Amino acid sequence: MDYVDLHVHTTASDGTYSPEEVVKLAKQEGLRAIAITDHDTVKGLKEASLAGEKYGVEVIPGCELSVEYPHGQMHIVGLWISKDPKFVAAELQFLRDKRHSRNKDIIKKLQNLGIDITYEEVLEIVKNGTTVGRPHIARVLVKKGVVKDINEAFTKYIGPNGLAYVPKTKFSPKKAIDIIKKEGGLVILAHPYSLNLGPDALKDELIRLKGFGLDGMEVYYSEHTPEQERLYLNLCKELGLLISGGSDFHGSVKKGIFLGKGKGNLKIPYALVEKMKEYRRQKGLGI
Ligand code: AMP
Ligand code: ZN
Ligand code: FE
Ligand code: FE
Repeated sequence: MDYVDLHVHTTASDGTYSPEEVVKLAKQEGLRAIAITDHDTVKGLKEASLAGEKYGVEVIPGCELSVEYPHGQMHIVGLWISKDPKFVAAELQFLRDKRHSRNKDIIKKLQNLGIDITYEEVLEIVKNGTTVGRPHIARVLVKKGVVKDINEAFTKYIGPNGLAYVPKTKFSPKKAIDIIKKEGGLVILAHPYSLNLGPDALKDELIRLKGFGLDGMEVYYSEHTPEQERLYLNLCKELGLLISGGSDFHGSVKKGIFLGKGKGNLKIPYALVEKMKEYRRQKGLGI
């Protein structure tokens, strides 16, 4: 059987593999298709798509947006957003500008705690990337020996309960969905477990999001338990949502999460991509 990974980050945002390296790795891992879903940017898509042709891997252009949500984290993945998406690019530039001011605020808080760190040092490790985020700051904190690993950077300093936490500017779920729709993308709710909802409340939330245009949900995900997988699968069937899945691979910044395999036993069949394409044909969205 052919397998896929529909949630992957690169150096265009906070992953540690370049778009080409990720595609090459996908080939090595025997994956037939991957979706590049960087936070708040589409700038890795061109390189990834060229690499897809070079290595014979189907590359689905995507992105991932964090949206306002009071009970946990809600992330929306767009799949098959057009490859030169001018409209989405302008909207995402707004989010990345907001990130810069947030990052600077985090750095200020860290400095006030007596930690020797500058934003220039963070930008240095970002290299060609365009979306700068907390994982980059965490890497600098590790490099400088302030913390022992990325996880400690989040728990002690930059995570929601950390001493230097600053919240991020986000769009509403409706706005994020509108942006992806305007680019002809499919709208997928990422890792639903992070909504922290029980089965009934999750169903209500999915119905609300479907009203805004939600097309599908990640059933298969590195952090989902078999019970969650079953629940999400049933909810997709009940509500007529597409089934998606991905590892959320970030390279070395998320240790223990492997491309296509998640924590080891993730297996996402290519048949899900075929279903998505059929759905796109029916809706007149092309492939
Ligand atoms: P940001 O978009 O700047 O708020 O950063 C969010 C990113 O940080 C996401 O990719 C998360 O996966 C990552 N992240 C959050 N907590 C942790 C953690 N404890 N260890 C590693 N990465 C984390
Ligand atoms: Zn990330
Ligand atoms: Fe996410
Ligand atoms: Fe992600």
